[in-house]
Formats: sequence, C-alpha cells, structure tokens
Amino acid sequence: MQRVNLIPGQLSFSRMVQGYWRLADWNMQAQDVVRFVEQGLELGITTTDHADVYGAFSEEGMFGQALKLAPGLRDKIEIVSKCGILFPCERQPDVNVVHYNNETDYIVSAAERSLRELHTDYLDVLLIHRPDPLMDADAVAEAFSRLQQAGKVRHFGVSNFSAAKFALLQSRLDFPLVTNQLEISAVHSDYLFDGNLDYLQQHRVVPMAWSCLGGGGVFHDFQYKALRDCAASIGEQHNASLDQVLMAFVLALPCHALPIIGSGNIERVRQQAAAVDVQLTRQQWFSLLEAARGYTVP
Ligand code: NAP
Repeated sequence: MQRVNLIPGQLSFSRMVQGYWRLADWNMQAQDVVRFVEQGLELGITTTDHADVYGAFSEEGMFGQALKLAPGLRDKIEIVSKCGILFPCERQPDVNVVHYNNETDYIVSAAERSLRELHTDYLDVLLIHRPDPLMDADAVAEAFSRLQQAGKVRHFGVSNFSAAKFALLQSRLDFPLVTNQLEISAVHSDYLFDGNLDYLQQHRVVPMAWSCLGGGGVFHDFQYKALRDCAASIGEQHNASLDQVLMAFVLALPCHALPIIGSGNIERVRQQAAAVDVQLTRQQWFSLLEAARGYTVP
C-alpha cells in the first residue's frame, strides 16, 4: 500500500485509512479488535481514525483495550483523534445541548482524556472536529502549543473546516496543520466545487475523506440507483465492485485525498483497500459525478 507524506520526514499515512466511528456496533471484543488491526496492517493500512465523541464517548476506550492487550501495535500505527463536539449522553451528564467547545483548557483536557482512553502516551494527530462559530484561533493555538510541548500530541489538523477557517487557524500557528478531514464522495461533491479542495491542493495539504460510500447509503438508497447502475457498468470494465469504483472516484482527486474505510468487515476492508489499483478514466469519473448529481456539468 502506497504511503503519503503529510510532513516529509515527520509524518506519513497509509493511502487508505481505517475509521473506527462504528466500532461500538461491530460486536468486537478487545481480542477481535487486535486481530482486525493486525489484518489491516497486513494490507498496509497503518493509519487509524478516531474521535472522543464516537460511540457516545466509548469508542476510544474500546480501541484502547485492544492496545492494552497488544501494546506492540502502538508503534505500528498512526492514531488520529478529534475533539470539540459535546452532546447529551451518559458520559456527559452536565451537557444538555449539542455544542462545540474549542477553548484552550477544554482541548487540552479532551486530548488528555483521549490518551487515557486509548492507552497511549501520544496522539500522532489531533483534529478539531467541527468548525465552531465561537472558535478563537488564538485559544486553539495555545492548546496545540501546550499539547505539543508536553509531547502529548505530535501534529494537528482540522475537520469539516472551510478554506477560510483553515487559513485563520493556520495564521496563528508556527507549524503546519497536516490535514482537513472532509466528507468527500460521489454523493457529497460540494467540496469539489467550493474551492476547499483547491485551497488544500494549493497549500499541499492532504485531506482525509470520510463517508466515501455515503455512510453505506449507496448500497441500498433509492436515490442512488442511477449511481449504482453507472458504477456497475464502469466496474465491469475494471473487474471492480461498486465500493471499489466509488473509492476510486475519491482516489482520483489531484489533492491526493485519503479515503477512510468505515467497514468493520475485514473482507470489505480488503476489497476497498484494493481500490488503489482501480484507475478511472476522466470520462468514467464524470459519468459517476453526473449519475450521482442527476445533471451534467455545464
Ligand atoms: P462509509 O464507507 O461511507 O460507510 C460505512 C458503512 O457502509 C458501514 O456501515 C458499512 O457496514 C457499510 N458498508 C461498507 N461496505 C459495504 C458493502 N460492500 N455492502 C454493504 N454495506 C457496506 O464510511 P463511514 O463509516 O460513514 O465513515 C468512515 C470513517 O470516516 C468513520 O469511521 C470515521 O472514522 C470517519 N468520519 C469522520 C467524520 C468527521 O466529521 N470527521 C464523520 C463521519 C465519519 P459494515 O461495517 O457492515 O461493512
């Protein structure tokens, strides 16, 4: 599996990333998670994506139990996690409204909680999960600086940020933000046209792409029937499955977006990882876009 440099000599990710948002639904014990990570490593998938909020604040702890059982895994993987979203749930008894918090002390304490839950003493990358209208960029910069100086987080990035908000935060930092994790797929193509991916390409920042398969909706939702038919026809020409064709759509982007696999089924992970070998032609790529949107580009 190809690796992509986010910061040459300091940080590289596997071209395909494994996401753990849905880990709590996978019915896995710690030993199963260890095996799942090992099987991913056999495919060359070293980068893992997490967030404090996943599984109503339980996902990191489940993954951490696997690292506790097999501590040797830690040095073989990159851990990306996120913070900043709060919502009412058992683990957040004082929260009564969904909101964001990107104040300095909150970010530092959230990252420290992630370290405890994950059974690790550092995160490779910490992302601010959502663009917060109350974000004070100086306050975020102060948190990042504290965490980096303490050796708790090595690199930082953002998720779901506009180009303008990315630039604002970057302007307050003396090190580069390493990624902007965005929803990018044939069925969510906004970022292809709003300048965000152009901004990242301009600054050579590699985005991570979430829900490349529409959260699973592409496989059954009525609204995606035309896309399924189109992808099936293209798949025949490449001997590729629907999920591989749709992953290849994201892999074709010139910003070198890194698709995050969301499946907990190792056979599907294996299949989707092999999408790196599917090279769509320009006409096939635009056919998929047209089938997903229901209209041609002007
Ligand atoms: P996705 O690939 O769009 O959807 C995954 C879902 O599709 C799973 O439920 C999976 O079920 C199903 N699926 C996959 N292949 C299938 C197939 N061949 N046939 C039928 N169903 C299939 O990805 P996602 O889970 O929505 O997102 C991926 C990752 O992105 C997450 O784990 C998380 O790390 C990250 N993420 C980030 C944000 C953010 O705001 N930054 C938001 C959402 C997600 P099975 O498990 O049964 O295969």
